[in-house]
Amino acid sequence: MTESKTDIRLFNLGQLQAQLGKYNWPKFRAKQIYHWLWKKHARSFGEMNNLPKDIIEGLENNFEILPIRVKDEQVSDDGTIKSAFETADKKIVEGVLIPTEKRMTACISSQIGCSLACSFCATGKLKRLRNLTASEIVDQVVEINNQATTNYKKSLTNIVLMGMGEPLLNYSEVMKGIDMITSEDGLGMSPRRITLSTAGISKMIRKMGDDMSRINLALSLHAANDEKRSKIMAINDQNNLDELAEAMIYYYSKTKQMLTFEYIIFRDFNDSLDDARDLARFCKRVPSKVNIIEYNSTDDEQFAKSPEDRVDAFVEFLTKQKIVAKVRRSRGQDIDAACGQLANKNKAELK
Ligand code: SAH
Repeated sequence: MTESKTDIRLFNLGQLQAQLGKYNWPKFRAKQIYHWLWKKHARSFGEMNNLPKDIIEGLENNFEILPIRVKDEQVSDDGTIKSAFETADKKIVEGVLIPTEKRMTACISSQIGCSLACSFCATGKLKRLRNLTASEIVDQVVEINNQATTNYKKSLTNIVLMGMGEPLLNYSEVMKGIDMITSEDGLGMSPRRITLSTAGISKMIRKMGDDMSRINLALSLHAANDEKRSKIMAINDQNNLDELAEAMIYYYSKTKQMLTFEYIIFRDFNDSLDDARDLARFCKRVPSKVNIIEYNSTDDEQFAKSPEDRVDAFVEFLTKQKIVAKVRRSRGQDIDAACGQLANKNKAELK
């Protein structure tokens, strides 16, 4: 009979010390092992070459490391790299490296699939299979950082949780992962360089405020009137615009951090000046800025990109209303790596 092993990366340092206490190994070993796991990103106990053999064997018999691995990489004409990561239980999840002149951004996933089914998003067509663990979230950052240094000789500067899944529906693992990414024992990145994007779960936005989160928060708004928003985002039925605005005002009162609204601009759906007026009105309720996002086509005929002159007029209207609004150019479209296009197309395992 094989005994089940424990995922060693479930523990913080204190917990690991407690776990290893029963083995009568010198105390400092726990620190060394922790360092191997989180600073050197060891993928096996055999690599831990400053540990004696009996400890390595003891670890191998009782614990396991469950890393994600890069299974496939695609490079876009614009240098964007999309990775299909395979988890230890053979599920596929995607992450993207977006290199620009000033930044190296990793776009990472929080869930395998997504339960929200927003009508414009390709990930929404996949079932949600499970939440990612904190270590799987950190692993994506480590792997994408390796790609950045190998291909562009630069380390990551920014991380956005805008890949597959809804991060606020996997709150505890996402926050544990972020702690590890920002901790000096881990990757030591600044929380100011991390942005979490949510489709809008008001209860969890308040929780982020209570927890005094220091990362940036972006809300996928996409329509600033309830009727329209509910048409494209079912989540709006339980988290309508009033509730979201109140949750964000609360979040701001706790964290003093400005919010970002993401607004995909769709042709003939939300790109009129009336829509811009609704958006301006909504933005004035919360200290915020707006990112206007080009629609990236998924295999869906229902939506189309708004023409340039409409987008320009829309942004001009917002600017006149003293709303800070920028148009975000899409990246990696040729390999389906752009926002909303992550659908494991290359690998059909996600069923
Ligand atoms: N669930 C989270 C994070 C994942 S989506 C959220 O909803 O925010 C990351 C961003 O991509 C969101 O703003 C999302 O609305 C946007 N997006 C989804 N589909 C898109 C598409 N087809 N074109 C452009 N952006 C899209």
